[in-house]
Amino acid sequence: MGIKEIDQTYIAKTYNRFPVEIVSGKGSLVYDDNGKEYIDMGSGIGVTAFGIADEQWQKAVIDQIGKVQHMSNLYYTEPCAKLAQLLCQKCGMKKVFFCNSGAEANETAIKAARKYSAEKKGNDCYTIITLINSFHGRTLTTLAATGQDHFHELFTPLTPGFVHVAAGDVAGLKETIANNKIAGIMIECVQGEGGVIPLTEDFVKAIDQIAKEEDIPLIVDEVQTGNGRTGAFYSYMHFGLKPDIVSTAKGLAGGLPIGATLLGEKVEIIFGPGDNGSTFGGNPVSCAAAVSVVERIDEVLLEEVKEKSKYIFETLQGAKGIESVSGMGLMIGIKTEKPAAEVLKGCMENGVLCLTAKDKVRLLPALNIPMDVLKKAVSVIKEEAGKE
Ligand SMILES: *Cc1c(COP(=O)(O)O)cnc(C)c1O
Repeated sequence: MGIKEIDQTYIAKTYNRFPVEIVSGKGSLVYDDNGKEYIDMGSGIGVTAFGIADEQWQKAVIDQIGKVQHMSNLYYTEPCAKLAQLLCQKCGMKKVFFCNSGAEANETAIKAARKYSAEKKGNDCYTIITLINSFHGRTLTTLAATGQDHFHELFTPLTPGFVHVAAGDVAGLKETIANNKIAGIMIECVQGEGGVIPLTEDFVKAIDQIAKEEDIPLIVDEVQTGNGRTGAFYSYMHFGLKPDIVSTAKGLAGGLPIGATLLGEKVEIIFGPGDNGSTFGGNPVSCAAAVSVVERIDEVLLEEVKEKSKYIFETLQGAKGIESVSGMGLMIGIKTEKPAAEVLKGCMENGVLCLTAKDKVRLLPALNIPMDVLKKAVSVIKEEAGKE
């Protein structure tokens, strides 16, 4: 049996894979089993921040593997401490909890908000507000947080204590807070899986103000938007926010599993021993990789992200077959007249790998994708979207 058949025989059918087997890559280029080259405009869903097999990233990983690959959280290890320090210094947060995925980082964020509110306002104050069309993960609790009903079907009962408000609906938000005991508000500043839709500045400001007035912890889910993706270190920085809790994952370790929940002043000391834990959380190899990634996300790189973003918007906005372009930085959604799946198929045939988000073509290229490679990919996308 070939790899495709073995996979189809033995892997649970949770994914609709494209009919392509990737065997290697370098930077923003990947190669399939026939040696065909593709430009990778998805970077493993915003994970390989500096592309495939990046030299600096590899060195950080290999050096750490040669020292100690895992010790458990019973001991101190350098990469985990250094990464937490770096993250706090970058965004003014106070403490970090490490885990292994975005969903877990959100679970921890929800636990922090619930414990804070239970202590302050009583055990019956546990409800978390999230937004309609949001995406927060696949565990039963983060599914409950996810404001898209189609993910919930046949998996009920989900964790109770979540209510959903429409993005932009300040009156609805206020009413929900007046009628429920609210323990937290959780938002993505740019809804990713929901179609790459940024929240409006007015709405984010309103949420921030209400959360402060009511002493409700504000959680920003930076799993997809974080770590330079939108042209700021975290997307909330575009909105002048100071969240109480931030969750992140995807691009943080450049391709190794990691999740992190950052705790601000309000919830800095919310967790004590035994309140949370993770066997793999803070793994030295993942953390060493993440240190190397975070150290490279500086002003120069963020400027480049913004320039590349501008190029994509200017080239595709108003082009034939393209209805709209949305997003921030290198997190971009393209509404095409043709079904997104058709555009993806054409792009793939012409050596460009893209993603979808709802009915849109979604781009999440490596942050350091070379400009000439990006231009080539964008021209293929433009051509495919405009084809009769
Ligand atoms: C991908 C994603 C998650 C889930 O992350 P996993 O690592 O797949 O658990 C949560 N929130 C957002 C905004 C995401 O994009």
